[in-house]
Amino acid sequence: MVPLSELYGRLRAHFGALTGPQAARPWWPIFGNDAPFEMLVGAVLVQQTRWETVEGAILRLLAAGLLSPAAMAEADAVTLATLIRPAAFHTQKAPGLIAIARHIVVGYSGATALLLARPTGELRDELLRLPRIGRETCDVIMLYAGGHAVFVIDAYTRRLFARVAPPLVSAAHGASHGAGTLWRRPYEVLRRAIEAELQLDQPGADPQAAAALYADFHAQINELCVRYCLTQPRCDGPPARRVYSRQPGRESYLGRADGCPLRAVCAHYRTEQARAGAGNE
Ligand code: SF4
Repeated sequence: MVPLSELYGRLRAHFGALTGPQAARPWWPIFGNDAPFEMLVGAVLVQQTRWETVEGAILRLLAAGLLSPAAMAEADAVTLATLIRPAAFHTQKAPGLIAIARHIVVGYSGATALLLARPTGELRDELLRLPRIGRETCDVIMLYAGGHAVFVIDAYTRRLFARVAPPLVSAAHGASHGAGTLWRRPYEVLRRAIEAELQLDQPGADPQAAAALYADFHAQINELCVRYCLTQPRCDGPPARRVYSRQPGRESYLGRADGCPLRAVCAHYRTEQARAGAGNE
């Protein structure tokens, strides 16, 4: 079994830093002047929706002058729904976003950063009480917009970990989950197990360092799953040539022709599985 830290190291060696000061460009493209609120809106819009569609909606909101808590709090739900269309559930996301914006205006004078500065546990509880914010969206907002050390579990994470099978054995949980069932574990169980595993690898890491690691690891997982580990994996490459952002510089990836950086890990896992299967016969 290959530990999480080694998986991360292989991904980072392949893609380079995707977040933080060493990244060539921000992994999360920001087009306006209020990054925390734009990230929050993007995190809600991306539910069941491709990022290309989200970006289009963000740019229309920006052009309409609605990409701030104060402006969105006063917006008409029908107008907002039209602007964010064709994002999935746009007629439900529009009133949800207005309610979130009003919450920020009333409770934090329209400053999303003040909301995000709350202690991690209290912030999670508060965000989860808002409309259109479930656990994954909550953690995306907390990690990327607020810098809190929470590991995001999304569909890409579950798919990749089901395939590469990192061992999740930690003192905090005292149990090892087999790869066959790992991706079906409840959100909170998986998040806590992964955070515990990564902290075991980096004892004494401060919360800021942990947040930086989680942010880049999640970005690396997403990049791998967009380029190589698709529903039909492209293990030997070339990677999918999808350009999913209008942000300048994204097209630089199109020249690559190499294979997935985790091929050796998957091959090792398949060998282990075959050995275990032979042992059971
Ligand atoms: S080698 Fe294939 S299955 Fe394994 S992580 Fe890469 S793309 Fe996915």
